[in-house]
Amino acid sequence: MTESKNALATQCIHAGQEPEPITGAVMPPVFFSSTYIQESPGKHKGYEYSRTHNPTRTALQDSLAALEGAKHGFAFSSGCGAMSTLLMCLSQGDHVVAGDDLYGGTRRLMAQVFSRFGIETTFVDLSDVSNLEPALQKNTKFVWVETPTNPMLKLSDIKGLAKITHAHGAALVVDNTFATPYLQRPIELGADLVVHSTTKYLGGHSDVIGGAVVTNNDQWAEQLAYLTNAVGAVPGPMDCFLVLRGIKTLAARMEAHCLNARKIVDFLVEHSKVEKVIFPGLKEHPQYELCKQQMAHPGGMISFVIKGGLEAAKRFNESTQLFRCAESLGGVESLIGLPAVMTHASVPLKVRENLGIVDGLIRLSIGIEDPIDLLKDLGQAFER
Ligand SMILES: *Cc1c(COP(=O)(O)O)cnc(C)c1O
Repeated sequence: MTESKNALATQCIHAGQEPEPITGAVMPPVFFSSTYIQESPGKHKGYEYSRTHNPTRTALQDSLAALEGAKHGFAFSSGCGAMSTLLMCLSQGDHVVAGDDLYGGTRRLMAQVFSRFGIETTFVDLSDVSNLEPALQKNTKFVWVETPTNPMLKLSDIKGLAKITHAHGAALVVDNTFATPYLQRPIELGADLVVHSTTKYLGGHSDVIGGAVVTNNDQWAEQLAYLTNAVGAVPGPMDCFLVLRGIKTLAARMEAHCLNARKIVDFLVEHSKVEKVIFPGLKEHPQYELCKQQMAHPGGMISFVIKGGLEAAKRFNESTQLFRCAESLGGVESLIGLPAVMTHASVPLKVRENLGIVDGLIRLSIGIEDPIDLLKDLGQAFER
């Protein structure tokens, strides 16, 4: 037999999901129970209280760990809940180096919330590995990167960052939300911890909020298990079930997202009303070569600058019909957004412009509809 070409597609469906032993149910049941009977005080079957452990959550955590090629998985009530719990592994006086165009909520957590507890963050452009070394301090514990970023789709060299981070005795955290383990496997590239907003591609249907942290390291896992229980940002069993169900079709969905994105990129590049297309699969993209090495496909997210600035961008956003104007990404339905007035409205103009988030920048999350219909929709919106 030859090696399977897409082992991850199989793992998506089976990892962590043994049939339920009592009934044989193929899908992990949703265990709506806050507590579990103890045969005698202190003697139980591994489950005592659902903040600590819940069987539906265990199934999700095992699945997430397997997909990322890690030993340990932890599920949370949201991506922000996952990141907060991970940041609580740090102590007063510790330091973080983070990418400069992180998800807005991540930046807010670091700059506005954890800073109040004496945990400082330095933001630098980590798409250039040589920016890391000068930003490191004696007390740096985490180097935190998103790749690709939102909405500029900048890539960072995970392997390169891991080498420098480890030489410094710090840990590399990679937010893998945009790529998913189907396109990029940070642990194999040297990351110590991987975080996710499972709200996006992993859930995949825009019907649940969730987050995750996975690691191969037993010490981090021990701290995370402790903090999951101590802090309590845990997901409910129904949310775990929904993310698990989403994961089953991750491989099929990602293939469709990526194929559709490619076709739409080809259309946008040729269009006379488009000033610039940002997509890591284009030769002009500054990390085009890195994308080929680090990712299986360039992904399903596209940013482009429309001619005519804010007014044209607004009108375009109002004119699409299949592409719904909404925040979030990674669902089966295509979404369109205007970062300057939506996701990044709170970012000061100067910072925004430095990052390249100009008024005419439009972000597309490509869904899995028929690509012809998506192209038609964009075409008629340009006409308007
Ligand atoms: C959405 C998102 C988050 C935050 O996750 P929530 O589930 O909304 O709390 C973190 N990182 C990235 C890259 C995201 O897109």
